[in-house]
Amino acid sequence: MPVNKDTLSRFYDEFSKFNEASHEYEDQKINAKEYKAVSTSFGEYLQRDNHQMLRIRVPGGRMTMHMVRAILDCCQYYHIDRLKITSGQALQLHDLDPHAGRRLILRLLDNGIVTRGSGGDNPNNITASPLSGVEKGKYFDVQPYSDAADAYLLKYTGIEPLPRKFKIGFSNSPLNETHATIKDLGFVANPDHTFDVYAAGGLGINPKLGICVAKGVNPSKILYYMRTMLDVYMENGNYKVRSKARSRFLQDTMGVDGFCKAFSTHLEEVLADGSLDIDVKERTYDKKGDGPITVQDPRLVPQKQPGLYAVSYHPMGGYLNSRKLEEIYQKINQWDEVEIRLTPTGGLYVINCTASEAEELLPLADGAIEGDISASVVCVGHKRCDIGIADSQQLLRDCLAAVGKEGFSIGTLPAMHISGCISSCGSQHVGLIGWRGTVKKTPDGRKDAYLFSYGGSYLQGKEKLAYGKQTMLAEQIPAFLVTLGREVEKSGLPFSEWLKTNEARLNEIADSFAV
Ligand code: SF4
Repeated sequence: MPVNKDTLSRFYDEFSKFNEASHEYEDQKINAKEYKAVSTSFGEYLQRDNHQMLRIRVPGGRMTMHMVRAILDCCQYYHIDRLKITSGQALQLHDLDPHAGRRLILRLLDNGIVTRGSGGDNPNNITASPLSGVEKGKYFDVQPYSDAADAYLLKYTGIEPLPRKFKIGFSNSPLNETHATIKDLGFVANPDHTFDVYAAGGLGINPKLGICVAKGVNPSKILYYMRTMLDVYMENGNYKVRSKARSRFLQDTMGVDGFCKAFSTHLEEVLADGSLDIDVKERTYDKKGDGPITVQDPRLVPQKQPGLYAVSYHPMGGYLNSRKLEEIYQKINQWDEVEIRLTPTGGLYVINCTASEAEELLPLADGAIEGDISASVVCVGHKRCDIGIADSQQLLRDCLAAVGKEGFSIGTLPAMHISGCISSCGSQHVGLIGWRGTVKKTPDGRKDAYLFSYGGSYLQGKEKLAYGKQTMLAEQIPAFLVTLGREVEKSGLPFSEWLKTNEARLNEIADSFAV
């Protein structure tokens, strides 16, 4: 959805603040901390290696061909190779030369692409089920509602200061891939074309499942719930202590009942005002298929539109090389109605391919299989994140190298969720296997280590925060996974099934590798 003209024009005006700070930082008139206070709310972060990262908003993870081309042109012009698909379905441009960010922000804005509010204490990129609108058996297309929510949020981004960042998710089914029931605010579709609404949840320090604050909400009313949650958060959130400022802390400070009461009282007032109804047109997909598909591949997802397919591509660790994206773009950009959908797991789908198009694209989609360990969800890690502790990307590389030699069946070991520190950018709390980075003192010095956790789930109605007590050195984890994988493989079950009756055995194996 194109950004509203007035909002866009305000972002151009506000850019001068960022530009000034960027020059002051370049001239060493302000320090990194002072710069970060401004730059992050425009999506620009300093990497640990003195390069920069720029986070682009991709509402609901949906990228049109125009957007892909504009981003690729920036990559070519500024020699950017490394893109990261985040668990928030945003796209990060990494390893930028110092001060490229300020030029990129403007160039992207010229193409209607926004970085404002993608970081800092703002409503961040909105997530939506990646195959919304084309997925078989799901309730309804939530993507247009996430677009409407994004447009509303952008109107206030930079105007209404929040205590901390704020994440919103839309889910089209109980599969809940966007963790909508565990966000600051989440809208979960029902079969009767309504939403249930969840609030004040989130992962990270003091993780909390969201509270169900409303059921059966007419989709035309979602902005009233957004307005209410933003107001309750601004009125009651902690503006003084950043580590306790996310909305999930309201469950502790107000109590669940207190929060619900404040929410419903405020909602009544906002609803009485009656000015936030939306009239959203859900998309139609008119493209026709061109015959039966002749290959079978787990990366091919038949759409609910007869004869159309989504093709999955999951680059290792969520790092997407810009040359690979260019190759994909060159292949698909002449095809009718195709678009890219980023996933919260660090992959992407090309949707609306005919059978012949999907077959032509498949050789390029040579990434991991969703759900398998090869498609693990991993944050950028401490090499690029200036607050990170452990190198989560290196851990994944080491694990896949060791496990790859074993030839395990797909799903013997599940997609892991790995974060390089106590934050939850790799969403380890909801992983069947999760790792949280830390360090351990050893006789050989300080070494990367990870807190192991297991059994997490984000399925709606079965949400569970992962549990764990063992800490392992990073160098031991590949051997742990090989031992675990051999045992699971012997059972003939995928890890998710094996775990149901083998929790004690899992702990025995984990204990034997723990420090
Ligand atoms: S989890 Fe920690 S290390 Fe990883 S990106 Fe987030 S803040 Fe950085």
